[in-house]
Amino acid sequence: MPDVVTLDDIMAARDRIGDQVRITPFQGSPSLSQIAGGPVWLKCEYRQMTGAFKLRGATNAVARVGNVAGVTTASTGNHGRALAHAARAKGIPAIICVSRLVPQNKLDAIAALGAEARVIGESQDEAFHEAIRLQREDGFALIPPFDHPDVIAGQGTLGLEILDQIPDAATIAVPLSGGGLLAGVAMAAKAQNPDIRIIGISMERGAAMSASLAAGRPVEIPELPTLADSLGGGIGLKNRLTFPMVRDLMDDLILLSEDQIAAGICQLSSEGHFVEGAAAVGAGAVLSRQLNAKDGPLVLILSGENIDPFRHAEIIQAIP
Ligand SMILES: *Cc1c(COP(=O)(O)O)cnc(C)c1O
Repeated sequence: MPDVVTLDDIMAARDRIGDQVRITPFQGSPSLSQIAGGPVWLKCEYRQMTGAFKLRGATNAVARVGNVAGVTTASTGNHGRALAHAARAKGIPAIICVSRLVPQNKLDAIAALGAEARVIGESQDEAFHEAIRLQREDGFALIPPFDHPDVIAGQGTLGLEILDQIPDAATIAVPLSGGGLLAGVAMAAKAQNPDIRIIGISMERGAAMSASLAAGRPVEIPELPTLADSLGGGIGLKNRLTFPMVRDLMDDLILLSEDQIAAGICQLSSEGHFVEGAAAVGAGAVLSRQLNAKDGPLVLILSGENIDPFRHAEIIQAIP
């Protein structure tokens, strides 16, 4: 397998998955544009089928597995859901291994897609060991949530789509966890416009990529509950692709407090966007004046919508 994902890989992924995923809409944000001092565009990827961009990578990876007993993964939710959807579309079984931190609504969604949700351990790393066991002993293909060339290439199709829709984008703000989304989007965007800026955004509580970049190598840190639950989990001590790609392609990294994430959820909700915490970090960064559009159009990736509706309502009510 190659050590970097190229623009060619991403364009091939777009041809492969084009008829199985949605082209999602984009929309201006009047309130955030005013605060940011320039145009802010919201890329509404939460309107992807399965409610998050992860369908792009999972569909591309499932399209490329050979003859296997099924597919498996460990996931904080959205990748598992995407893989379940992609496996069902291809007519093969899926077993999704998740940790106890994953909210019930995400488990229900996996089961509703006809896959088995297997709850194992307290962290994503423990769930991952069960997926490895299925691969070794039961003939399943393990499709990890980010550190895989076909997954990164699939996520990269979102970068191509952003530049098609907003050709003058100066900055793209990308929610960052394991870095599959950022690596793919950054590769796609910078291959076409080397001047475009790619800003990663994570939460302060348990940001494994941030800690790894600071250490100069992949490190493990404790996983903590956060409003941006889709951004939780480690990057893998044996990370091969996303750590070097994020290190080399990302221009800046912003970390947000839980209050700043909550403020992002509220602001987006006031303009009609019902999104989860991970998807609201771009808005949170603009509101906390850590990100602006003074150098040109700023694109925020609203990456997913899979939040418990009751939790969403509580967050909105708690903000004055
Ligand atoms: C997975 C996910 C992310 C982060 O993607 P990585 O490739 O792990 O960096 C961001 N937002 C949502 C909604 C996600 O599901």
